[in-house]
Amino acid sequence: MALPKRKTSKRKLRVRRAIHATKIDYAAVHKCSQCGAPKRPHRICPSCGYYNGRQVLSSKTA
Ligand SMILES: [Zn+2]
Repeated sequence: MALPKRKTSKRKLRVRRAIHATKIDYAAVHKCSQCGAPKRPHRICPSCGYYNGRQVLSSKTA
C-alpha cells in the first residue's frame, strides 16, 4: 500500500481546506426560478416549495 513520503504541512492542509470552503460558497446557492429566493441546486425551494416548474411541497405562504 502506498504511503506519503512526507507529512502534509499545516499550511498545505489549511490552503487545501480553504479552497474547498470557497468552492462551497460559489457553487451551493442558486436562485429559485419561481420566486427568486436563494436555494440549493437540485433541491426543492424552501420558500415556495417549487421544483422543476411545479409545486412539490404544499405551502400556504406562497
Ligand atoms: Zn421559490
